[in-house]
Amino acid sequence: MNEPDTIQRVLVIGAHPDDPEFGCAATVAKWAAMGRRIDYLLLTSGDKGSHDSSKHPGVVAAQRELEQRAAACELGVHEVTFLHYPDGLLENTLELRRQVCGWIRRFKPDAVLAIDPFRRYQLHPDHRAAGMVALDAIYAAREWYIFPEQLLGEEPWRVNDVYLFWTENADYWEDVSGSIDRRIAALSQHDSQVNGRIEAIGEHIRAAAQETGQALGYTFAEAFKHIRL
Ligand SMILES: [Zn+2]
Repeated sequence: MNEPDTIQRVLVIGAHPDDPEFGCAATVAKWAAMGRRIDYLLLTSGDKGSHDSSKHPGVVAAQRELEQRAAACELGVHEVTFLHYPDGLLENTLELRRQVCGWIRRFKPDAVLAIDPFRRYQLHPDHRAAGMVALDAIYAAREWYIFPEQLLGEEPWRVNDVYLFWTENADYWEDVSGSIDRRIAALSQHDSQVNGRIEAIGEHIRAAAQETGQALGYTFAEAFKHIRL
């Protein structure tokens, strides 16, 4: 698999803290180590991510933002931005599209990593919405007369490559044999989500990445649907 060498800046768009680590973080760690600048844009702070009803969503959100920053640090991510939309209620609205478009124009990524919104039976509404808004905002960001008030004299921004994770239509595989451990180390930072289960989760992730890599001769791989724009 030839590495696209035109990628300098990468934006990862997810619905919740831990989406990148559960989805594509060995690729993130590998690309960061190659010198690519990686930024995260998380649309919610995962405030419903607790089964303990005594934990107020605001408390959960604060903890999960800290965990996400620690995980990102583990991977060499440059900056983490939260848009603070309510967890579990995310919708692909025009307002959210405008905001995500604005961040794309600010970060100027050559490539975006996002959730595949077209995966069938993807039951979490936030994952569907986050994937769709990412694609719609990528389209908007390159147009002169969509949200023109954001441009302030600058040109619109054209993302060249989109890599969708959690896909069932993979056509791009990243060899992550050298960075799978970093992904698991980053996941372990999400204490509120993996508490006491990181060994089992790590094993599961290794097994899945091994299976993904098998046909290509990689020890471990992550799979994406690649869209070249
Ligand atoms: Zn999620």
